[in-house]
Amino acid sequence: MKKKIVILGSTGSIGKTTINILKRDKNNVEILLLTANKNYKELMKQVKFFKVKNIIITNKDKFIIVKKIYKNRNINIYNNFNSLNKILKKRNTDYTINAITGLSGLEPTLKIIKFTKKIAIANKEAIICGWPLILNELKKYKTDFIPVDSEHFSIWSLINKTKSKNIEKIYITASGGPFNNYPLNLFKSITQKNALKHPSWKMGKKISIDSATMMNKVFEIIEAKKIFNIHYKKLSILVHPKSYVHAIVKFKNGLTKVLIHDTNMTIPIFNSLYENFEKKIKSNKIDLFKLNNLNFKKVDKKRFPALRILDNLPENHSLFETIIVTSNDKLVNMFLDKKIKFTDISKAMLKIIKYKEFLKYKKIMPKSIDQITQLSHYVSLKINTLRI
Ligand code: NDP
Ligand code: MG
Repeated sequence: MKKKIVILGSTGSIGKTTINILKRDKNNVEILLLTANKNYKELMKQVKFFKVKNIIITNKDKFIIVKKIYKNRNINIYNNFNSLNKILKKRNTDYTINAITGLSGLEPTLKIIKFTKKIAIANKEAIICGWPLILNELKKYKTDFIPVDSEHFSIWSLINKTKSKNIEKIYITASGGPFNNYPLNLFKSITQKNALKHPSWKMGKKISIDSATMMNKVFEIIEAKKIFNIHYKKLSILVHPKSYVHAIVKFKNGLTKVLIHDTNMTIPIFNSLYENFEKKIKSNKIDLFKLNNLNFKKVDKKRFPALRILDNLPENHSLFETIIVTSNDKLVNMFLDKKIKFTDISKAMLKIIKYKEFLKYKKIMPKSIDQITQLSHYVSLKINTLRI
């Protein structure tokens, strides 16, 4: 039987990596649905290759264009995720990957869980803001979950269902991004080009900027806390520019496990698709030179002030996470639109998290997606009024 697959955000960096893995297994997979926001040209190439019958294009203008161009083809073209009921049947999908960027990925995650036996989530913003809602749906529909962010995939593999009380410490690694050794006096003049040039990972624009500010690691600590239900004090970051080790877990029985794999997202995605050695992947030999030179270092909060956000986080799930994700998203876009400087992103973030009117959200648990999206909308408007 063919594996039935859905890719949300198939035109992005994670989406295309997933597509490339599936191309090597074309005869054994059936793609039920692909989605994109704007990039219909890439989407239609994928549709053609895999003979996909259903697509969602969320951007209205591009949706209208695609409807016109492809009106005589046997493809169902939809504009939003309310159409999932028309496309999928309950639990008829074997594997879904959410590779959408930003908080927009939360709604489709919540809506698709009932249709799929397994969901792999790369979309960290959805996990950070809406984990209690996601967890509810996973339990309700008995859907399996695998994190795809490489550090979290590594932790997930290492702990292999060990209870969180038996874990003493988790380290996630950080490459340090493009500015790990950059002279501090030049930070003020960092350009988009500098910031988008990641030394070891090839990723989408938003996450590349988050890696440069280290906001990505702030997100990953929150993400790990939620997924593995573990206290913040048990989670730390280690700078490791070779990006060979992705996570280290120390257990209560004295054992410490380390997970190593080549620096690419193919390995976590491949393993989320084909569990238990279902398929073989080509990978490099163990690199003893890298192993002999792991060079772990503590993170430098002076160089990466965004890391100070970690000292201001509530221990319980809260709407404060939505404020952090939305503010950062907005600020990253402002930097990409050349409206603010690179250093302004972290500076503004540290101010925003201290705003009195936002502090109350640390004690409010997210109860619905509407609550999250309304707050996100409000924060987004609020940031427009700030002088950064
Ligand atoms: P990209 O920006 O490369 O791709 C994003 C995808 O989401 C595209 O298909 C895009 O469509 C679609 N999309 C964008 N906005 C919307 C929207 N409003 N509604 C619906 N779909 C939308 O991102 P990445 O692949 O880099 O990252 C995806 C997620 O995975 C992020 O949350 C990121 O943090 C996480 N992640 C990424 C890693 C990486 O190596 N890239 C590593 C670990 C985690 P279109 O192309 O049409 O714009
Ligand atoms: Mg990561």
